[in-house]
Amino acid sequence: MVLLGAPGSGKGTQAKRLCQELGLTLISTGDLLREAVRNNTPLGVKAKGFMDAGKLVPDELVIGLIREKVSGLSGGFLIDGFPRNLEQARMLDEIADINLAVNLDVDEQIIVDRIVNRRSCKQCNEVYHLIAKPTREEGMCDKCGGELYQRTDDTEAVVRERLRVYKERTLPLAEFYCQRGILVDVDGQGEIDDVYGRILAAIKKFKN
Ligand code: AMP
Repeated sequence: MVLLGAPGSGKGTQAKRLCQELGLTLISTGDLLREAVRNNTPLGVKAKGFMDAGKLVPDELVIGLIREKVSGLSGGFLIDGFPRNLEQARMLDEIADINLAVNLDVDEQIIVDRIVNRRSCKQCNEVYHLIAKPTREEGMCDKCGGELYQRTDDTEAVVRERLRVYKERTLPLAEFYCQRGILVDVDGQGEIDDVYGRILAAIKKFKN
């Protein structure tokens, strides 16, 4: 299964929960790239400029990362943030049988609000929203006590560019999976639990 949707559509939040409840390994390309940037690895050094500008990191870097992660896995997995363009979707076909693509649909203004108010934990990557999902103690992760920060690409100017890139490069994937008859559009607005329920319903419907 792949999860599609604009930045801020809730893919990461929903992917985490799906993995916990369905016993899948979560691979988040965004988290892996941010970790590489933090650790100043050769990959991180190459990726940073693209990420800060809201652009996609070159395919060869991301595909290398996915191949490395997936090759060490034995059970099922869910990748958050991948594929982001047609080349990546074709590469994914080489290593996995994709039989469902869930597309999270969220209004653009809601996306901008979600992203500029988003704060992430430096340690465990848990995500909060300053108003809709605040932490109990300001600036501190409820789950692990880690320090919260605002991603450098979560500013309004960068979000607009990320949305432009999304429409140009990632949105065509909906058509790609639709032509195969495996695309399901899910309303990604409202409470996290409700969106999760809609995704589960889509999975069940497809299994039958
Ligand atoms: P995300 O956390 O998924 O919003 O990703 C943050 C940033 O990481 C993106 O804006 C891209 O710069 C980069 N990135 C994440 N996944 C990919 C991917 N599959 N292909 C290219 N760049 C990616």
